[in-house]
Amino acid sequence: MATRLEKVVCTRCAHIHEITAYPRIDVIREPELKEKLLNGELLTWQCPVCTCTNLARYPLVYLDSAQKLLLILSEAVLSVESCPEGYLARQVETVGELLEKIKIFDSGLDDIVIEICKYVTLQELGKNVELKFLKTDGADSSMTFTYPWDGKMEMLEVGFNVYEDCAGILHRNPAMLNSLSALPRIDRNWLGQWISG
Ligand SMILES: [Zn+2]
Repeated sequence: MATRLEKVVCTRCAHIHEITAYPRIDVIREPELKEKLLNGELLTWQCPVCTCTNLARYPLVYLDSAQKLLLILSEAVLSVESCPEGYLARQVETVGELLEKIKIFDSGLDDIVIEICKYVTLQELGKNVELKFLKTDGADSSMTFTYPWDGKMEMLEVGFNVYEDCAGILHRNPAMLNSLSALPRIDRNWLGQWISG
């Protein structure tokens, strides 16, 4: 396992601390790292001076060779010519987006279809919030999304028929898939270029 020491600064007291960073996680070889990533342990650190919990911010490569999935967490714009043969690759900018992608792909779902689902659901909800996929209990059961509202996290159940309808929309618009770069960012902004007016 490749690790390195990274200097970080506490957001509350400005104490400079050193943490162990994991720039590349191979979740099939190191399943315990995936667990720590999902429960928040891996990308947070506690300040030894003021005990404040901070988010660790560094670029991270997430590799799942069983699913042939490559997720790259980076705030910088990355230009990638090609990805490993047969892999599905995505760039994300935040830890929240990274965890959402892992949950979507681990559920056997398509993240582009999920983005369309979020758009359709928000239209009906009529609130200007950001939905995040949380889980589904398998095909034919409903999907659960979360969104922040009034200082707490709200849960929203969406029927699986919505997923099927949105998969149909994607199927009828092959240009959406054909336009993807080697390492696309699939999010609300990306979908916005396809849905206007
Ligand atoms: Zn501190």
